[in-house]
Amino acid sequence: MDFKCSVSRCLEDVTWQCNCPEKFKFCLTHSKELMSHSRLKKCLAENIKDKYLELLVKQYTNALNHVESDCIKLTQEMICEINNCLNDNWNYLENKKKEINGLILSDQKDKADIIVNWANTLNILQREKKQYCLSIRKLLGIDNTNIQIVTDWEKLEEDLKTLKKSFEESCKKNNGLEEELKNSIETNKKLSDELEYTKKYFAQENKNQLSVEEFKKRLSSLKKSDEFKNLLAQLDLQDFQKKFLQNNKDVRRLFITDDNKYIFIYRKD
Ligand SMILES: [Zn+2]
Ligand SMILES: [Zn+2]
Repeated sequence: MDFKCSVSRCLEDVTWQCNCPEKFKFCLTHSKELMSHSRLKKCLAENIKDKYLELLVKQYTNALNHVESDCIKLTQEMICEINNCLNDNWNYLENKKKEINGLILSDQKDKADIIVNWANTLNILQREKKQYCLSIRKLLGIDNTNIQIVTDWEKLEEDLKTLKKSFEESCKKNNGLEEELKNSIETNKKLSDELEYTKKYFAQENKNQLSVEEFKKRLSSLKKSDEFKNLLAQLDLQDFQKKFLQNNKDVRRLFITDDNKYIFIYRKD
C-alpha cells in the first residue's frame, strides 16, 4: 500500500485519503489541495493517520521477523547437538550394560566391578555447568547488554582465578618465610643460650679471680708457709705447682714487682 502524498515531490506523512477510485492521499500541508480536489471531483476524504501509523508499525516490526526465525534455527541446532550427546551417552551406557552382562556370565565379576566403579565416580551432575551456560548465553543471546554482562562475568571469573593463584603463591611464600623465621628463632635461642652460658662462665671466673689489691691485702695477713701456698695455688703460676706443691717446699718470702706483672717467690730449702 502506497502512503505517499499524491502531490508531486511531497515526502510528508499522509493524513487524508479520498474515495476516488485512485484513492488520492494528502498530507496536512497539502490540505488545501485536497479541498480543491474534493470540490472538483465531488469526492469525500477520510482521515487515515491511524491506519497509516498502524501499517508503519507492522512494516517495521516485520523487519525483525527474520531474527526471530534465526534465533529459533540456532537454538534448534544447539538442542539437536545436546540431544545427539544424550543419544551417544544412551548408546554408550547400553553397550556397557551388555558388556557387564557378558562379563558376569563369563565369570569376570572383577571387570564388571571396574565398570560399576567408573559409573560411581562419574558424578556428572557435579560437573562445571556455569561456564557452559555462560557460553550458551553468549552464543544464542542477542541482547547486547546481556552479552556484556556475560563477558564481564567471565572476566571476573578469570580475575578471581588469577587472584586465587597469586594468593596461593603468597601463602606458599609465607610458609617458607615462617619456616625461615622458625629456624632463625631457633638459631637465636641457641646463640642466646651460649651467650648466657658465657656470661655465667665469666661471672664465675671473675669470682674466682683475685684482684692484685685483694691479693696483696690477703697476702699481708698471712704468716705461715701453707697459707701462702694455698693463696698462690689459686693464681696458677708457672712452675709453682711442680716446685712448691709436688716437692712440698715451703715459701720463705714473696716479692711483687711494681708493675704487678711478676711475683718472685723464694723457696725454703
Ligand atoms: Zn478524490
Ligand atoms: Zn503533501
